[in-house]
Amino acid sequence: MNQSFINLHNGVRMPRLGYGVFQVPPHECAVHVANAIEVGYRSFDTAQVYQNESGVGQAIAESGIPRSEFFITTKIWVSNYGYERAKASIDESLRKLGTDYIDLMLLHQPYGDVFGAYRALEEAYREGKLRAIGLSNFYGDRYVDIAHFATIKPMVNQMETHIFCQQRELQKLMERHDTKLMSWGPFAEGQNDYFRNPVLLEIGGKYGKTAAQVALRYLFQRDVILIPKTVTPERMAQNANIFDFSLSPEDMATLEALDTEKTLICDHRDPALVDYILSLQP
Ligand code: NAP
Repeated sequence: MNQSFINLHNGVRMPRLGYGVFQVPPHECAVHVANAIEVGYRSFDTAQVYQNESGVGQAIAESGIPRSEFFITTKIWVSNYGYERAKASIDESLRKLGTDYIDLMLLHQPYGDVFGAYRALEEAYREGKLRAIGLSNFYGDRYVDIAHFATIKPMVNQMETHIFCQQRELQKLMERHDTKLMSWGPFAEGQNDYFRNPVLLEIGGKYGKTAAQVALRYLFQRDVILIPKTVTPERMAQNANIFDFSLSPEDMATLEALDTEKTLICDHRDPALVDYILSLQP
């Protein structure tokens, strides 16, 4: 599998294409990650709340491939926010992942004691437990707030990002502090009949590529970091096969026009969603 890297602002090289394990059941996770490693993936995105960090760690350990060839991202859940709890939860994630460092650790959601938790991230970064730190689901206002507060600026902000919700304004805003945009839900989790979208299919027809590959390639050409999820090995291979073609400026403009600038999956400013998120325990 080909790969391409992006330089985070501290010089860490991050693979631009990885594999996400949201909604992968804990007992199945090691098998799917092992399949993804077989396909060639070396970057994995998990989270405390997915309850499958151990599966990611197990598959990496069993692969026989040196740890240094992998890039592991995980996220602190809101119930572990506040300085002390976040600090302890970083150690717990290290233990579950079976590693003595995490490549990138994010604050999963913008609620609760994010400032205490961010201090814990900074401290673990200085101690060498984390190679990079960042955020997830921090819309522009929350992002700017924490970026000003941070002594180590967030290197990444992971946001719902796909052709219908492209986050172009946020991406531009984040350039100020050199924070990279990482997409979650690059296929909008299949909503809007994503894989049969006529525009994606028509453009794909020109290049001999699927709708999924066109969608990923579009984001890739916009410097977005990708972590598509699939438990189907053929789709893992398909999603990784996006480095041998390039979308023309006309195709890029056509795809840009699909942006509705609205979330399709969840609106982090909806009080009911905030209640729900704060009720979840990993
Ligand atoms: P997604 O990647 O947009 O979509 C996954 C869905 O697309 C699955 O149903 C999968 O089916 C299907 N699929 C994948 N490749 C396909 C292909 N080539 N052709 C047809 N169908 C395909 O959704 P996601 O899992 O929500 O997002 C990706 C990753 O982002 C997650 O796994 C997680 O790591 C991260 N994430 C983060 C947050 C956050 O709050 N930070 C939220 C959500 C997700 P099968 O699996 O059945 O093949």
